[in-house]
Amino acid sequence: MNIILLGPPGAGKGTQAAFITQLKKVPHISTGDIFRSNVKEGTALGKKVQGYMDQGLLVPDEVVVELIADRLTWPDVQKGFMLDGFPRSITQAKALEETLDAMGKKIDAVINIEVDFSILTERITGRRVCKNCGATTHIKYLDDKAENKCTECGGELYQRADDSEETVKKRLVEYEEKTHPLTEYYREKNVLINIDGQQDIKDVTHDIESALK
Ligand code: ADP
Ligand code: ADP
Ligand code: ZN
Repeated sequence: MNIILLGPPGAGKGTQAAFITQLKKVPHISTGDIFRSNVKEGTALGKKVQGYMDQGLLVPDEVVVELIADRLTWPDVQKGFMLDGFPRSITQAKALEETLDAMGKKIDAVINIEVDFSILTERITGRRVCKNCGATTHIKYLDDKAENKCTECGGELYQRADDSEETVKKRLVEYEEKTHPLTEYYREKNVLINIDGQQDIKDVTHDIESALK
């Protein structure tokens, strides 16, 4: 199954992707994660994208499109894949379609996680990521906030550079202007599945599981 996870920053895409990739046994492809690891390693790609990410702006379409076109040549996508954070513009969606057409593939489902804008800032500024295993959590889920340890592996948690209140505002504007039109785009293609992202994490997972059956 070839799946896209859509939704504004902080909707819970990464959180749900961790469950759904296990369930569907498909690789989780997150453009944000790929960019962050390139920034950390100081690669040429990392240097190209860091300024955009720090400012809360989308990386130029051609950079992301090239990255995904390459990623989709890996053998692990043969049995399906889950895209998280891509596409994020109509240009990217059209480029993806061309790449998949050439491979004789198509998107089967677009899971659109819906969350009211008013709660996204709190979700994003409270987000913490494990340095060791990459798991995402929120300060509200940590028993002893002072301890700052991953509940999955005990690793040290950190806050993403772009998860500040100021940058979040710009990311939400970028989403509204460039990414939100994708819901209509995929609705017209009859692959859009809307999911209520304001429920407990496990209930969101349950709804996605049911929708993908
Ligand atoms: P995205 O990948 O869409 O940007 P994340 O999965 O990283 O979003 O989630 C953003 C933050 O919100 C994280 O701190 C996460 O722990 C929290 N979160 C995710 N899903 C829920 C939910 N259903 N209810 C409350 N908080 C959630
Ligand atoms: P979130 O889901 O919280 O918005 P991501 O990890 O998906 O965060 O993305 C972080 C940043 O990486 C974005 O703000 C943007 O700068 C860049 N990025 C990731 N995916 C894309 C994409 N498909 N197109 C353009 N920029 C992207
Ligand atoms: Zn961890």
